[in-house]
Amino acid sequence: MTASEEETQAVARELSATLRAGDVVLLSGDLGAGKTTFVRGLAEGLGIDPREVSSPTFTLVHEYRGNGLTLYHADLYRLESTATDDLGLEEIGVKDGVLAIEWPDRLSHELPRATVVRLEMVNDSSRRITIGSASAGLTPSDNSALPS
Ligand code: ADP
Ligand code: MG
Repeated sequence: MTASEEETQAVARELSATLRAGDVVLLSGDLGAGKTTFVRGLAEGLGIDPREVSSPTFTLVHEYRGNGLTLYHADLYRLESTATDDLGLEEIGVKDGVLAIEWPDRLSHELPRATVVRLEMVNDSSRRITIGSASAGLTPSDNSALPS
């Protein structure tokens, strides 16, 4: 549970320390839950200016270069799931960077190696954050695999 935007970014910074080239992070949660905020924390942890991170709107995938890993940031909100077939998102992440995806439920196939981050709005300033692996059965929208 985090009580502020700053705390959410701190959680993301911690996660970023465990990421390696080729890793994919799926960010699920309602509008305003803090997905983009979380990506800013990932950026910071990867040595990228978090102010560079904005919600990709017309550009589907943003690319932020830091000292180490490149951060790719996709927001699939406006996409039909069939359109994601052609994006090659799985391939993008594999080489030099980390791929963070907002609204991963739009993806047409699952990414079993991905890290799943689920953000839930508790109130104005609090968010419940659950981090797990897709292969462990944690899907972005399903919480049945989680202890409560
Ligand atoms: P999303 O990308 O999921 O739509 P954003 O990250 O763009 O969400 O926006 C989250 C909003 O919620 C921001 O205005 C942020 O300041 C606010 N907020 C309040 N509390 C928190 C928190 N604990 N963690 C993350 N964001 C928070
Ligand atoms: Mg967003």
